[in-house]
This record gives sequence, structure tokens and C-alpha cells, in this order.
Amino acid sequence: MIEMTLKLFNTWSKKKEIFKPIKPGKVGYYSCGPTVYSSSHLGHAVTYIRTDMLKQFLKKWKGFAVKHVQNITDFGHMTSDADEGIDKIKKAMERERKTAEEITKFYTEDFHRAMKKLKVEPPDVEPKASENVDAMIETIKKIIENGYAYVKDGTVYFDVSKYKDYGKLSGKNMKEQEEQQRVKDPNKKNPNDFVLWAKHKPGHSHVWNSPWGKGMPGWHIECSTMSRKYLGGDFDIHSGGVDHYFPHHENEIAQNYGAFGTIGANYWVHFGLLSINGEKMSKSKGNFITIDAALEKFSPEEIRMWTFSSHYKSTLDYSEDNLRKAKEKLDKINKFIQRLLEIAEPSEKIESDIAKKYHKKFEAAMDDDLNTPQALAVLFDLITEVNKKIENRSLTKKEAADILSLLKKIDSVFKIMNFEKEIIKIPEDVKKLIEEREKARAEKNWEKADEIRDKIRKMGYLLEDSEQGVRCKKIKQ
Ligand SMILES: [Zn+2]
Repeated sequence: MIEMTLKLFNTWSKKKEIFKPIKPGKVGYYSCGPTVYSSSHLGHAVTYIRTDMLKQFLKKWKGFAVKHVQNITDFGHMTSDADEGIDKIKKAMERERKTAEEITKFYTEDFHRAMKKLKVEPPDVEPKASENVDAMIETIKKIIENGYAYVKDGTVYFDVSKYKDYGKLSGKNMKEQEEQQRVKDPNKKNPNDFVLWAKHKPGHSHVWNSPWGKGMPGWHIECSTMSRKYLGGDFDIHSGGVDHYFPHHENEIAQNYGAFGTIGANYWVHFGLLSINGEKMSKSKGNFITIDAALEKFSPEEIRMWTFSSHYKSTLDYSEDNLRKAKEKLDKINKFIQRLLEIAEPSEKIESDIAKKYHKKFEAAMDDDLNTPQALAVLFDLITEVNKKIENRSLTKKEAADILSLLKKIDSVFKIMNFEKEIIKIPEDVKKLIEEREKARAEKNWEKADEIRDKIRKMGYLLEDSEQGVRCKKIKQ
């Protein structure tokens, strides 16, 4: 039995709720994937590192069998851009003089490569929108049959006046929203009605046949369709960036209700956005950072550490200063691990009191809506306490082994730590002295050999003679 202690902030209810899965021991998880028309950027890095953190905590700490589905949006979708006639993928096709297939293949691979570098585990299923259009047409048919949509001149619209909870998720003022939408499209019954199937226009990257004529699905319908198709019905968690509150997830929920009579997912989790030196990242501002560019300056572990330094719901600010701070903290953790590795190897089972105490504290922080800054604070408290114990020689080998094992468990979620025993770099002058000493030993000049050993010790290195030869260790400061 998995204990239900994890609380997640559910955007649907606007409350922190105890997480209870639909099927005991199992979690169905859907996260919105990228639209593949340009290079993966730092916003993707932050969103999917957070996605991975949530997933790994459910798997590695809570013991759930998680099925994770994340889509690839590989055709242009209806946005205000599309209303002007050209969708994003079509724009990329024109910009790069490539076919739609070449564009989407290239940027899907770019996304996969970037995620791998950032140690983000791939989803279990990664459906492509373009390969699920038939299923989307079926969903749209259901919505029409149930009376939540209407067809006008080859386009299918969702009728928001039929869904009483429209606007509940985002909390947006729908009257204001109406003002913005008004007169844009004379075919709409209500200004906030949105497109389920768009009649073909020359600016669309793709075209399919449908019962309503040639065209392509609206953006939101793909997530309603593919989440249900691959998770087999209603599921547990749906996540995405807060920029998806509206219209994407608001519309997804309306469609789910119109087609299937439920909102689809029980927990709607939203990740905060990214800012660059306090400003919104945008190409026009010239502060657009691709994942490749960020990785030239900082390691994947440093980027992950920086991501976890803020709560997933807050806006995360990128600045070289913030990244450097994350790096310093990470160095401290890794130095601590090296210290422990000199004492012990990770144990099989965590049994000692000190390791158990911090295991509990870490889990409690993460249980509280995945509070990673608090979890990191627990980690640094552990480092302080254990370092004191090392200094006053009261840390046992078993305790060191258990703490290493706890750190490994923490790292199954964070993926930031280095457990490789560091091979120390021996300075050239010490190396020379070691050679001299070896020569003296070969000549059986023991006095000289001992003299050199003392000299090396004064330089901060310890020599140990063994059957495999001489070993040189740095003396602990
Ligand atoms: Zn989506």
C-alpha cells in the first residue's frame, strides 16, 4: 500500500489536495509536449525538468507505476497568427525552405537531443498529432452529437455557452475575453467560441479530409483526444506551463466535457514561467536562449539545480548570477559526497537514525506540493549536521553509508549529484618526488626514501605502499 501523503496544488479546485490515484498504485500522467517548429529553448528546459521531477518523485519515492504520455504537436495550429492566414509550421517552412515533414522531423530530433542532455526521461508514449487526426475527428463528432459544437461554412466551433464551467480553470474574466474576441470571426455564435476543426486556408501547413470538408484540427483537440486514447479514459495528472491555463487547458476541459462528460484529469498542475534577468523571454527582445546556448555556459546538473531552487509554481529567473549561485551550492553537495565516499560506500538499506530523520524531512518537503527549495534546505541541514559529526569523529561508517544511500535516493529525483569517486590530480613536483623515492627504494636507500615521504607529506599528500604499487592520497584539510 502506498501511503497517500503527497499534496498537489490543483488548478481546477485552486487548492492543495491529497493526491489519490484512480487505480491504486498506478498513475496516468499527461503533459503537453512541444510544437516542433524552432529550436528548443530554456522555457522548454524548465518545464520538462519540472515534469521529470514530478514523475520521478511519484515513481522513485512513492512507488507508483507511472504511465506518462506527452504529445508532439507537428502541424500548425490555430492561433491568432493562423487567423491572419499562416500557421507557425508554415512560417518555418517558408523561412527555411523545407517541407513540413523536414521541419517537424528536424525540430523533434532537436527536442529529443536537448531533453537527453538535460537528463529528462522520455515519456512512455509520445504520440504525434499528425498521426492521430482520425481519432480527433471522432472526438469532434462526439462533441457535435452531444450538442456542444456547431458547423459553419466548413469550420467546427465549440459553443462555450453550453458549458457552464467555461473560464473556471483560468479564472479569466470571460466578459473581458469576449471584448477581445468580438467581430474577429462573424461565423461564431459567441465571441469566445473556439475552433475544433479549421477549414483549409492556403496558409495552413497541413490538410486532411473530414466530414466537414478539407481542413485541419484545432490545437486543443489533440490533447483531449490523445490523453484519453493513450491513457485509456479519465486519468490522474495533467501538467503544462501556466501559459496553458488559457486558452489551451480551458478549452481542453470544455472539449473533454462536451465529448466524454468529464474534465479528463483529476489534478491539473501548472508550472510557473521563465524570465530572463526579470524580463519575459522573447525573440523580439533579443533575450531568447536556446538550450544549446545555455549548455555552453552551464552543465545540465547546474541547470537542473537552478530549476529546483524555486518552487515549480513560481516564475524562475535566469541570470548568470542565479546560475552561478546554483553551481556553488551544487559544488558544496558534491564535495560532501566525496567526503563520505572516503569513509564508506552507499548501503543497501537506510537504517541509522540520522539518515532516517532526513529521509522523512526530505519526503515531507516534497509531499508539500513538491517544495523543492524546502527539500534543498533539508539537504543542506543534513550536510551541516554530518560535517560536524565528521569533524568531531562521531560519524560511524554505517551512518556514512546510509547517508550516501539517502543522497542517491534524493538524486533519483533531482539528477544533479556526482557519485564517482574523484581521482585526485597529483601535482608535477609531487610526481617527481614519488619517482625519486621509487629510485631510492630500488637502491634500498631506505633513509632517503623516508625523507622524501616526509617531504611529500608536508606538501599535503600521503603515500601508501601496497602490493599494487604506491598510492598517493591528498591529506584531508
Ligand atoms: Zn496540450
